[in-house]
This record gives sequence, structure tokens and C-alpha cells, in this order.
Amino acid sequence: MEKQYCTAVVLAAGSGRRMGTKVHKQYLLLDGKPVLYYSLKTFQESELIERIILVSGRGEEDWCRKNIVEKYALTKVTDVVSGGKERYDSVWNGLQRAGREGYVYIHDGARPFVDKEMIRRAYECVIREKACVAGMPVKDTIKVVDEEEFVTDTPDRSSLWMVQTPQVFESELITDAYSMLKSSPSETVTDDAMVVERMMGLPVKMFRGSYENIKITTPEDMDIAEVFLKKKKSAF
Ligand code: C5P
Repeated sequence: MEKQYCTAVVLAAGSGRRMGTKVHKQYLLLDGKPVLYYSLKTFQESELIERIILVSGRGEEDWCRKNIVEKYALTKVTDVVSGGKERYDSVWNGLQRAGREGYVYIHDGARPFVDKEMIRRAYECVIREKACVAGMPVKDTIKVVDEEEFVTDTPDRSSLWMVQTPQVFESELITDAYSMLKSSPSETVTDDAMVVERMMGLPVKMFRGSYENIKITTPEDMDIAEVFLKKKKSAF
């Protein structure tokens, strides 16, 4: 089968409130380079990705272009577009620029350790299934709690996966799903698969991400990321 056109939309428009730093988490330095650099570099080097769209915070577009895209010669980054208030607003802005051709990888710029094999697993999955998300089986038992933090349920662990990115879709499908969402916005949308599940009622297939594919969210994540990076240094 002929290679299908793939665009990566990398999200970096979050404010990172849980990190507690003035610098947004995707710009914090990991071994001297911004967290955001690492996933961009991996998409740049993947032969499956034709084009990258970077979604930055409003007013940070020029800074990103100069200090990340040009500085590290990320030539596949064709556009830097500004994000919105919620993650799904940022995704929507990226999708509009991406267009309806082929497939789109939506990725959190705060996840530096997506790797080339994962990008390939995603490609093989999305060609078959149209809507696929990276994830891993949970290791801990997960409890559901009420507002007062009393346990109300303990779901069977064997059926629980934690969701990561990239989340990968046929471009037309995800663009249509997001246009429907934009006409009935919901605060509870935290990932792209939910949009396809809810708006289109279509099945979404999980493929294996990795336990190293962490999202930098709170300060200790930077310590963990330093350890993972030591092992992967040759990739960057
Ligand atoms: O806030 P959260 O950790 O879920 O953010 C995941 C990713 O989405 C991050 O890379 C963040 O920069 C991005 N994001 C965004 N626009 C927002 C909120 C989050 O691009 N309004």
C-alpha cells in the first residue's frame, strides 16, 4: 500500500499550572534543551511524518519559531499557530491548519519521549482502524472517589489503561468530530479519543505507547525525565 501523508500537530499552548513555575512546562530545560524540542525532533526524524504543525501559546509564536524551530533546524515544522484556552481549542486550531488529507498525529509537547517505533505502531494501527491512541496498562489499582474522597468504586484493573499521546486519526474523521464538538463545547474533554467516541460514536483502538512516554506535569516529572533522557541520549 502506498505511504499515506501524515501530519503531526504538537501542542504547546498550555500554561502548566500544576508545575508551579513561571516558565511553561514545555519550555523547561532538559539537558539544556526545552522539553518541547525532544518530541519535535523525533517527529522530524521519523520517515513517516511529512509535516509538523506546532501549536504555541498566543504571543509565543515568534519565540518558538526562533528559539526552537530555527535553532534546531526542525525543517518539517511548516506552521506555528496559536493555541486556545482549553486543550481542545488548541487542537482545533492545529487541525484547521493541518487540513483533511491523510492522517494526523496529535501529540502533547509536554511528552518528550515519544519514539520512532511508537510512531510506526501508530501508523500501522491507524491505517487499519482510523482512530488510535497510545496507552499502557495501569500498574496501580485505580479507585473512583466522590467529592469527599470516599471510595465509590474499584474498577477491574485488568481492563484499565492510561492514555497517552500520540493520538492518531484519519484527518477527515477527527476534523469532523472536532467541528461537532465546537458547536457543543464540553469542559470535560481531556483527550482526542473522547471526541471521536462521543461525537462520532466510533470505536477507538489503543496501541502500546511506553512507560517512559510520561507527560511533564509536576516538578518530580523533570527528575524522572532526566533519568530517561540519560538512556536515550544518542537519539538526540
Ligand atoms: O494540561 P495538560 O497537561 O493536559 O496539557 C497537555 C498538552 O496540551 C500540553 O503539551 C499542553 O501544552 C497542551 N495544551 C495546549 N493548550 C491548552 C492546554 C494544554 O496546547 N489550552
